[in-house]
Formats: sequence, C-alpha cells, structure tokens
Amino acid sequence: MKFDNTYVDLPESFYSESTPDEFSSPELLAYNEDLAETLGIDLKELTQEELAQVFSGQKILEGSQIISTVYAAHQFGSFVPRLGDGRAMLLGEVVNSKKQRFDIQLKGSGPTVYSRNGDGLSALGPVIREYIVSEAMHYLGVPTTRALAAVHTGDSVFRPGGETPGGVLTRVASSHIRIGTFQYFANRGDYNELIELMDYSIDRHFPEIRQEMKENSEELNPALLFLRKVIRKQITLVTQWMTLGFIHGVMNTDNTTICGETIDFGPCAFMDIYKADKKFSSIDSYGRYAYNSQRKICAWNLCRLADCLIPLIAKKSEDAVELLNKELSTIPTLLETQWLERLSLKFGFVHNSEFKKEDDDLINAFLEYLEKEELDFTLGFRNLAESLTENTDFFPETEDFKNFKESWLKRLNFNSSEDFEKIKKSMWQVNPRYIPRNHQVEKAIQGANEGDLSTFHEMNELLKNPYNYQEKLDRYSIPPQPEEEVKATFCGT
Ligand code: AMP
Ligand code: MG
Repeated sequence: MKFDNTYVDLPESFYSESTPDEFSSPELLAYNEDLAETLGIDLKELTQEELAQVFSGQKILEGSQIISTVYAAHQFGSFVPRLGDGRAMLLGEVVNSKKQRFDIQLKGSGPTVYSRNGDGLSALGPVIREYIVSEAMHYLGVPTTRALAAVHTGDSVFRPGGETPGGVLTRVASSHIRIGTFQYFANRGDYNELIELMDYSIDRHFPEIRQEMKENSEELNPALLFLRKVIRKQITLVTQWMTLGFIHGVMNTDNTTICGETIDFGPCAFMDIYKADKKFSSIDSYGRYAYNSQRKICAWNLCRLADCLIPLIAKKSEDAVELLNKELSTIPTLLETQWLERLSLKFGFVHNSEFKKEDDDLINAFLEYLEKEELDFTLGFRNLAESLTENTDFFPETEDFKNFKESWLKRLNFNSSEDFEKIKKSMWQVNPRYIPRNHQVEKAIQGANEGDLSTFHEMNELLKNPYNYQEKLDRYSIPPQPEEEVKATFCGT
C-alpha cells in the first residue's frame, strides 16, 4: 500500500495522532480484493494472518501516519462543538491509477483523544452491517464509502446487551471531511483554518472550481461555488437513497460528507413495506430522520454548511447571507426535479426534460397504494415492471390500483409488445431485485457472532448484482415473515 498523505499537512488543530489498541487474536473475516484493485493496493504477498494484523492496526505499513480527525456536529438538531473520530483512525491516503485519492480508515481500533466516554471499539455486528450495506450501496450505484476489510479482534466489547465479539472495519472514503468539520472551525471563529479547510476541500473534491473562477468573472467567490457543488452532491445522494427505500437513520451533520458519499451505516435500513414516515432507528424518538423527512433534513444540513461559510463570502455578514440564501433557495426545486427525474425512470417513463404534473400524481398514486395495501417497496417496482409482460398476482386489484394502472399504461410510450419488453428491461435497470434486507443483515450478524460467515459471504456475493435475477440466491429477494421483521435498529456504538 503506497501512502500519499495530505491531511496531515494541514495544521495540527485538524487532527491528533492515534495509536491502535492491541488485540489478542485478530482474524480476517473479509478482504475486498475488487476494491483493493480499484484503489491500486496490492497486498497479495501477505498471508491471511498478516492481513488481519494490518486491518486491525497491529502491523503498521510503511508510510502510514495514523491520525484521528476533529469535527463538530449538530446531532439531532443540538450543536456539539467538539466530537471527532472517537473510534476511527486514518491510516493514510492512497491515490489510484486514475489519480483518485482515498482515505483508508480503521473503525473500532481503540480510543482516541476524541473518544469522550466511549471505548473507541466496535462490536462485530456493526462491522458486518457496514460491510454488507456499504458495499451493496456501491453496487446499487449510490455514492458511498466502502469496506476494504473486516476483522474479528478476538476480544470482547461491552455493550448494553452484554458482552459481544469485537471487530474492526476498514473504511474507504473519497475523504472524511464533513459539514461538521466546517462547523468545528466556524464555531471557534478560526477564520484561517476555515479558509484552509475550504481550499483543501476544493483541491481534493472540486478542483474544477479553480477553472470556473478564472472563466467566469461574475462568480467571484469560491465559497459560493463550493456550496453550490455540495448542494448538488447531497441532493443527488439523498434522492438516490429515497428511490431505493433507504433510510439513513442518523443524518447528523457529522454524518454528512462534503464529497457526497453515504457515510456511517449505523441504524440505517432499507424498508420492506412502504410507509412514507417509516423510521427504524431506536434513538430517533421523534422521527427526525424518517424516510420522508430526509429531503427536508438534507436541506437543513446544507443550511448549516452555509452558516459556516458566512465569513468566507463577504466582509459584511448581511451581504454574505444574501448571497448564500440565493444558493440555498435553489434547493427545493433541485430536490423536486431530481426526485421526479429518478422516479420517472423507476416507472419506465420515457425520459424527457419536461416534467408533467400528471407524472407526480401518478408517482404519488402508486406510493399511496403501496402504503395502503402494505406492500413491499422494492418488489412493488420490480413487479410493476414484470406486469408489463406477464401476469403477476403481487398487486391486490383494488379500484386504486386499476385507476393507477390505466393512467400509467397511458403514460408509457408504447406501440407494440416489443416496447413493453424494452420498458420492462429499462425499469429493471433502476429497480433492484435485491437489497440488503434488514432481517437478512441481522441473520448475517448473528451468524458472524457465532462464527458462521455463510450468510455474510452469500449476501456480499449476491449484492454485487442487485439488478439481475440470481436463481441460486433468489431467496434473498423475499421480504421478512412477520416473525422475522426487524422493528428497530440500533447504533451499536
Ligand atoms: P456516530 O453516531 O457513529 O456518527 O458517532 C457519533 C460520535 O460518537 C462520533 O464522534 C464517534 O466517533 C463517537 N463514537 C461512537 N461510538 C464510539 C465509541 N465506541 N467510542 C468512542 N467514540 C464513539
Ligand atoms: Mg458519525
């Protein structure tokens, strides 16, 4: 692994050095060869034992400079001025052959200066969940941090439910800069650090801003352009989640990246039965992060980033606020058009840039029907596609459904049965057959805790092709039986 570290070149106030804990007998549960290749990492000469040592922080590779980064956050709406990586350590950065830069980070490798009352460790369960779900996200086509390795430490951790096996996840991200990183410096009034952070973020994620600045004399402010880019990235991300029925569960500003990747797979879940205000997280008492609140929260988080940029925009804060508000005011329309654009694809509408009010009505009619009949979100769309060419008994033939289907068929642009076949295929490409269903993730976790990794490996394999029918593993498309249903998810921290 050839490290090329840049975050350590930022002022010392951005991070602290960390040292991984010692673990008694690390055992490698998974090493993501495909991802290693994408990253240009070649550890083929290492044995399984050595890989376990590397990905639990016992063996430190040459060039690694281990740090934990500082950030603040709004957690469930309340500001916490200093959080930081309480259980995460950045081993370093790598650059692949396409000149893409990635952070390689251990999660669960022991306490850091930011651990507060936490132990800096991770139970194996959350490691297994993050590995499965983050990799599934990637193959579903959603920007996300990824999982390079999972290790069982051989030691126990203590959690409210009792003693449980410990694990370390190796997470890969385009960077770990969060809205909360900006909040940390903005809140302290550290103007110079704020500028350094923005410059670093632009160089790392949006280098095109420099060019745009040169070309467009009207756009004089890089911070505004920066906000514009982050707005688009976050809106794309949250819209993609929602088209897949994904509920992040903890959309705090420390879990909102500048690069627009999904981060922190804590109490997240894909919903089975569609319910507009569905929430799983046991800690989300008021449904702040429920399924249909995610767009609004995305907007709220972006406003918090804008707050931080005020001193970078103009000398007078009123002027800065006016300019920032102008950028922020684009959010509602962007959210709406992205949603309609992506939902249109799910419904097989021929893509055109003009969106019709009727499309919105059709989308809502179908979703309301799914909710009323308590039908599975993922299979609902998949069966809708199938219903074009074959009979499916998935949909109760209520008046609502008949009305919807009539309008939908009218809206689809078809002249022949061949067109139906084409539309069905296009719908399959955006409507997965397989998602990491919660009850199956729970089975994988339970298995891993008992030393049986078969479900874990099977799910990882299956979810590399979520849009294609896979005969041998098709049982994973089946929603939970009532007794299997997972009613609440936990942070597991
Ligand atoms: P999360 O909910 O995972 O985004 O975590 C929120 C904050 O709590 C972050 O600053 C984490 O680093 C910290 N944290 C979570 N779990 C632990 C732990 N076991 N030990 C120390 N800090 C933790
Ligand atoms: Mg977090």
